[in-house]
Amino acid sequence: MIPGGKQVGFKRFEFSVDEEKLDDMYIRAVQDEYTKIDESWLQLHYKTSVILVIFSLLVEIAMGMILVNSDMLTTTVYIYYLKFLIIPSGLNFILITIETLIMKSKRFSQNHKIYSVSLIYVGIGFVLFSVHCTFTSAYYIFAIAIMLTAIYADYRVTCVTALASISSIITSELFLEWDKDKISVFENTHRMGDFLISLFVLLAFSIAIMAVIRFERRKNSAGIQKEIERQLLQQSVHMDEMTGVYNRKAFRAEMKYVEDTASDRNYTLAIVDIDKFKDVNDTWGHHVGDRCLIEFAKILKEFCLDMTPFRYGGDEFCLLFCDKSMEEAEAICGEIKARVNLLCFEDYPTLILTASFGIASISDQVDTVRLFIHADRALYEAKKVRNAIRTF
Ligand code: GH3
Ligand code: MG
Repeated sequence: MIPGGKQVGFKRFEFSVDEEKLDDMYIRAVQDEYTKIDESWLQLHYKTSVILVIFSLLVEIAMGMILVNSDMLTTTVYIYYLKFLIIPSGLNFILITIETLIMKSKRFSQNHKIYSVSLIYVGIGFVLFSVHCTFTSAYYIFAIAIMLTAIYADYRVTCVTALASISSIITSELFLEWDKDKISVFENTHRMGDFLISLFVLLAFSIAIMAVIRFERRKNSAGIQKEIERQLLQQSVHMDEMTGVYNRKAFRAEMKYVEDTASDRNYTLAIVDIDKFKDVNDTWGHHVGDRCLIEFAKILKEFCLDMTPFRYGGDEFCLLFCDKSMEEAEAICGEIKARVNLLCFEDYPTLILTASFGIASISDQVDTVRLFIHADRALYEAKKVRNAIRTF
């Protein structure tokens, strides 16, 4: 198989892959891969929010059971369960239901789902924090909500989640009158200190996550760039610079690939040699000879859906057909021959190119050396008359 190129029989790339196309293709492939990773993380992100709600419900039940059976309960059992279990869990289950509906819906894009899950996480955090704001450490729930968005490596998602989290803490502490026993941050300097520290910590944490995203993105782009460079280098090693078709090294690699892998396939090889090419060089000069080779290769490339062209050397090209009968290969060579005969060079109206073709085929046992020798013998026969096609 030709590195960075196409495999006979199943194509990874279209034939002449230029740098821009390779960039596009590679970046698209990487983006597709990232989308898949985002998708699996989104599922996990969603599941963690469900687990958080169930876990907090179980903790509330356990805490309730401990408090009810102790003398530490400062209110009635009914009020306790209503305040800490029924209302918060009810709200969280509503959020989870909305989240599940969004996740299951096909109307929402992956991006919408990412925003929804991230913000619903903040919503769950808001409910839990508001219920338990006497425990200052509850603001860590928001830190978790922000941290879980880092995997998407999207500044906007993290930024929106961070803003929503900070707004939630401010709303809950300054504007929400949920618990009559709650000590306002304005009444207690200790609570005010905790409140301000929590805001500062969340802000610093958000900035740190942004920095992580920035460096992670830079690392990823550097990786992509290096991979593109590696592929281009590999491709250039297997390309004939002047004609833009694969070179002899690529032909050898392809022959090896054919021999190593595909004994059940039918391969046909045509060797093409331009007739009296020395005369072209001698009459019009080597620069015209070069132009002829380029134009000749252009014609071969037009047929690259049927076969893979290689420049074997000088004015000799190999065309490898996969799963084409000898008759089909002969017909395609006939078309190429006709196109070559019609080539005209405006500055050199008397210059007419012809080429000779030798074709051989193997299907039973893949022996590429034999295939080449047979095609070469057929070419030898064709060269006796020139501008002809001969099969072995
Ligand atoms: P025949 O019909 O028997 O093939 O005659 P020919 O003159 O084409 O003979 P041959 O195929 O042996 O000659 C190939 C010539 O191609 C020899 C060399 O001068 C020329 N050639 C090889 N590589 C290049 C190249 O890159 N550019 C140019 N302009 N000429 C080349
Ligand atoms: Mg020749």
